[in-house]
Amino acid sequence: MSSSNIYDIIIIGGGVTGCTIARALCKYDIKVCLLEKEADISSGTTKANSGVVHAGYAADRKYVKRDLCIRGNKLYTQAAKELNFPFSRIGSFVCAVEPDQIKGLEEERKKGIEDGIHDLELILDKEQIRELEPNLTDEVLAVLHAPSAGIVSPYEMTFALAENAAMNGVKFFRNHEVIKIDHRDYTFTVTTSRGEFKGRNLINCAGLYAGKISKMLGLDYFDIMPRKGEYVLFDRNEIQLNKILFPVPTKISKGILVCPTMHGNTFAGPNAQNITDKEDTATTTAGLKEVLEGGKNLIPNLPLRASIRNFAGLRAVPDSYDFIIDNTDIYGFINVAGILSPGLTSCYAIAEKVLDFLELLGVQLKEKENYNPIRPKPQRLADMSKEELDKKIKENPAWGRIICRCETIPEAEILNAIHAPVGATTVDGVKFRCRPGMGRCQGGFCRPRVMEILARELHLPYQAITKKGEDTNLLVAKTKDVRLKEIKESVANK
Ligand SMILES: Cc1cc2nc3c(=O)[nH]c(=O)nc-3n(C[C@H](O)[C@H](O)[C@H](O)COP(=O)(O)OP(=O)(O)OC[C@H]3O[C@@H](n4cnc5c(N)ncnc54)[C@H](O)[C@@H]3O)c2cc1C
Repeated sequence: MSSSNIYDIIIIGGGVTGCTIARALCKYDIKVCLLEKEADISSGTTKANSGVVHAGYAADRKYVKRDLCIRGNKLYTQAAKELNFPFSRIGSFVCAVEPDQIKGLEEERKKGIEDGIHDLELILDKEQIRELEPNLTDEVLAVLHAPSAGIVSPYEMTFALAENAAMNGVKFFRNHEVIKIDHRDYTFTVTTSRGEFKGRNLINCAGLYAGKISKMLGLDYFDIMPRKGEYVLFDRNEIQLNKILFPVPTKISKGILVCPTMHGNTFAGPNAQNITDKEDTATTTAGLKEVLEGGKNLIPNLPLRASIRNFAGLRAVPDSYDFIIDNTDIYGFINVAGILSPGLTSCYAIAEKVLDFLELLGVQLKEKENYNPIRPKPQRLADMSKEELDKKIKENPAWGRIICRCETIPEAEILNAIHAPVGATTVDGVKFRCRPGMGRCQGGFCRPRVMEILARELHLPYQAITKKGEDTNLLVAKTKDVRLKEIKESVANK
């Protein structure tokens, strides 16, 4: 391999952390690639979390994650403007229901204001609370209101980051699991399940597996344990919430919140359960019961019958309980590990810190002449007036072919999701980019049609289309072929 094939920077992991760093680096005249083990980016913790952009007062001052969260929150405004992802600063409430919890909220407020979250307010007037959030329990005595807190679609933001990074030259390699790393002569040789990559600098953003990657280079100084959080999601427009609603937090978690999403759904969750299997995202009866009870403590009229999906996400919890962002003793190797909550909020601040490290390592961050920070807003039928839609359908009839009836998603949106930079190649990839299968029927009607479109556009046989990559085939054989084989076998055995 000639030196021109050596990347300046290789990023391992295509979650929000890796993609934000990739996007921050795409501004500069350097060669960058990102390696992701799954069939799509945003397949790990980034896919299943609360999607809350926290104000930043919640973590203890001894943790670096507190500063990065406060800074990260502020950076969202500019990022959302440039990348056009769904984000809204709707504000959060932490709800005290016991008189002795109020003092704690007042302390959080004071410390938060000292640390730059100037708009925090403690509301003690029950009428005012009710006006701001009519569905909230009558038990509430006071709330800590953080107007700068917001909600974001975490996977849509991550796709936007990757698209913009790819538009500006970053190479994405999905289905590339890093299995071995060598370091010699200031060059990293990274072996994946499908090839070999060489780079001068290496950034480890492998989420739950960041410890494993670090150990490949002999650096064994932290462990990452999974902590499961389960959720119940309710159908769109069943209940209208204005704020992100938290109980007063416990020592290990922010507690079970109730929150609207950017698409008009509501969810309750997550609980917090330490587990050992890093792939175990199954929900449990006990866990969901805990989530619903927690949710009802805040919103007594949660629309239980309108629950459309349960899911779980895994927090990557390090021994230190803090982010590990280290310019390590191995020259050019940066660990960005243990990015537990509020990692989604902090991602832009984390990327700034990583860029500082790279400058210290002597990477020349010279801005490209043709850098384009804008990722165009995806065209959505839901955003169009009738006249606009009529015009669109005349230009391209795919705007008039509705594939997902629950969410009213036309074929044109699916085509755009497939043909975007770092586009969808699986059924879930389409679902998370433009929502077919996110509605009440959960894909019962539209999934076969999405598969047909994927097969046609990617020039693959229908049977080759998977839910989310290897070993998740949705079809195994034609029904008649299976039946015929069974008949032949039974005749042969007679
Ligand atoms: C229940 C829950 C609720 C949360 N709520 C919030 C919230 O409201 N607000 C907030 O700010 N934060 C929240 N978080 C935290 C936030 O989700 C995480 O901080 C963030 O998603 C971490 O992103 P990441 O990119 O570091 O990890 P991931 O998204 O897990 O990405 C790591 C990637 O690395 C890939 N990978 C792993 N090993 C390899 C390998 N060997 N080779 C190649 N690729 C590899 C994985 O496939 C994965 O795609 C929550 C987390 C959970 C679990």
